[in-house]
Amino acid sequence: MDFAENLDLIRQRMAAACARSGRAADSVALLAVSKSHPPESIQAAVRGGQWLFGENKIQEARAKIPLCPGPTRWHFIGHLQSNKVREAVEMFEMIQGVDSLNLAQEISNRAEQAGKIMPVLLEVNVAGEASKFGYPPEQLLAELNRLNDLPKIEICGLMAIPPYAPAAEKARPYFRRLRELRAECQQLLGAPLPHLSMGMSGDFEVAIEEGATLVRIGSALFGERPRCIQAPAN
Ligand SMILES: *Cc1c(COP(=O)(O)O)cnc(C)c1O
Repeated sequence: MDFAENLDLIRQRMAAACARSGRAADSVALLAVSKSHPPESIQAAVRGGQWLFGENKIQEARAKIPLCPGPTRWHFIGHLQSNKVREAVEMFEMIQGVDSLNLAQEISNRAEQAGKIMPVLLEVNVAGEASKFGYPPEQLLAELNRLNDLPKIEICGLMAIPPYAPAAEKARPYFRRLRELRAECQQLLGAPLPHLSMGMSGDFEVAIEEGATLVRIGSALFGERPRCIQAPAN
């Protein structure tokens, strides 16, 4: 698979989805999910003009990011353990997937020590799946003000991973639910939450139609991830 061709095709499909839903083409950003792919793949992406990447393991990111210099920017998209927060705050421009007050508190503390304000997205378990991380919507609404009171995080929006389904249309109600939940959160906070991170290789067009501002795309750009070699947990 040729990365430049894949990237071109994804950009065209994103633009078409924007056009279909009456949105500006620049209202959606592409996060290239580079987890489990080597630095060479990322360097090829940079040559194609892709600078924004997503990683889900601190250990892997720690090894990889220094090998990918240039204008690259990185989002953490995995489940973050509190003992990895310090490093995450240093390496990433945004932490997607904050799903508890404890974690948010730890991020705020570590950001304070690092002298920065950490942009985060709050992860929502939109389908109530037992196997998934993320806030149940009711709990998110209940904790939102306390999250917002933490001094050194900036809540930039919501993210979700809907249940896997071979048909992209099946994800539409969950994307819509996330958009509606964002509206509720904005009303509670009295402030805008610019980002909705939703949509992956199989369903990003539907996500864009439902308002995604960040789509997280891995396999449709880089090819299938090696599945036999499991990265170490962290
Ligand atoms: C791996 C991953 C993706 C990308 O999935 P693809 O189906 O390969 O596009 C997106 N979001 C998260 C949180 C992921 O872990």
